[in-house]
Amino acid sequence: METRLDVIVVGAGPTGLACAIAAKRAGLTCLVLEKGCLVNSLANFPRDMVFFTTSELLEIGGIPMTSLGYKPTRGEALKYYRAVAQAFQLRVNLYEKVESITRVDGDFHVRTQRRTRQSCGYRTRTIVLATGYYDQANRLGIPGEDLDKVFHYYTEGHRYYNMDVAVIGGKNSAAESALDLFRSGARVTLIHRGPEISAAVKYWIKPDIENRIKAGQIAAYFNAQVIEIQPTTVGLATPEGVRRLANDFVFAMIGYHPDTQFFESLGIEIQPLTKQPTHNPKTLESNVAGIYLAGVVLAGMKSNEIFIENGRFHGTVVMETIAQALSAPSASP
Ligand code: NAP
Repeated sequence: METRLDVIVVGAGPTGLACAIAAKRAGLTCLVLEKGCLVNSLANFPRDMVFFTTSELLEIGGIPMTSLGYKPTRGEALKYYRAVAQAFQLRVNLYEKVESITRVDGDFHVRTQRRTRQSCGYRTRTIVLATGYYDQANRLGIPGEDLDKVFHYYTEGHRYYNMDVAVIGGKNSAAESALDLFRSGARVTLIHRGPEISAAVKYWIKPDIENRIKAGQIAAYFNAQVIEIQPTTVGLATPEGVRRLANDFVFAMIGYHPDTQFFESLGIEIQPLTKQPTHNPKTLESNVAGIYLAGVVLAGMKSNEIFIENGRFHGTVVMETIAQALSAPSASP
C-alpha cells in the first residue's frame, strides 16, 4: 500500500474532476479512481449528442470551454475534459474499479481492481463519492427486458434503418431518440405511461416530436405500459386493451438513478421517501464521517435537479471543508 492520501475521489466525471482540481488548489493530495474512461458517462452519451446547455455552464476549474455552435457537442465536451485533466495534471487512475472501502485506524482503506485484474490498495483520510447516476439505468421489470434487442442507452440511429423500433418514455431522451430513429429511417413507436409528451421536454424538441406524432410519422401510445418483450413483438397494456406490435428493437429511455446500494454498503443512510443519501447540505459530508458526496448522487429521486451545471461547484465546497477538517488540531496525524 502506498502513502496515505488526503482524499480519494471516486468517479472521473465533470464533478469528480472539479473535485480533484479543488483538492489541488486546497493543497490536498488527491487520487481519482474511475472504473471506465475519463468522463465515462459522457463517452456513453448518444454519439451525435448536442448538450442542452451552453459551454460556459459545463466549465470546470475556471478553464474556458468553447464550441463551434451555440451549444457544445459530446465530442467537444470530451475534448475539453481531456484538456482540463491534462492542464491540471490531475492524478486519475482509469479503468480501476473500487471494490471495497473499509475503515482502518481512523483512515479509509480502498481496495480496487484494475482492468488487468490486478488488485490495488490505497489508504486515505477522506473519500468523495462522485459516481453519478448514468451507470444505473431504471428498469421496466418486465419479461424480456434482458433480451439483447433491448437497450437502456441510445447511441445512434443508422443501425435501426427499416426496423420496427419501440421507444419507451415521455421525456427528453425518449423524444430525442424517437426523432433521431425516425430520421434514420426506422419505423418508430413511442410508448409512454403518461397522457402526453412531458412538459419537461425542451421547447425546441417538444413541437418537433408532437408534430411527427400528429402527422403519423411516429406512432404513439399514451397512458400505455409495455408489459412484455418477445423476440419479434412487444405487448402493451393500453386504455383500449392489450396490443401486440411487431418489433425488432426496444429503447427503454426511462431514466437513471444513483447506486444507493453501494452507499448503503458504506453505512450511508438513504432516506426512504426521497432516496437521498443523508448528508449535511452545507459541507456535503454524509452521515459517515469522512465520506463526502458530490454531484447528482446527492439528488436521490430528484435526479433531474442536479446536472453538470450545478454539480461542478460541489468540489470547492467539499475540498474547503476537508482542508479545514484535516488541518484542525484534533485531526488524526
Ligand atoms: P427522465 O427525465 O428521468 O425521464 C424518464 C422518462 O421515462 C419519463 O417520461 C418517465 O415517465 C418514464 N419512466 C420512468 N420509469 C418508467 C417505467 N418504469 N416505465 C415506463 N416509463 C417510465 O430521463 P431522461 O429523459 O433520460 O433524461 C435524463 C436527464 O438527461 C434529464 O436531466 C434530461 O434533461 C437530460 N438529457 C439531456 C440531453 C441533452 O443534453 N442533449 C438529452 C436527453 C436527456 P414519467 O414522466 O411518467 O415519470
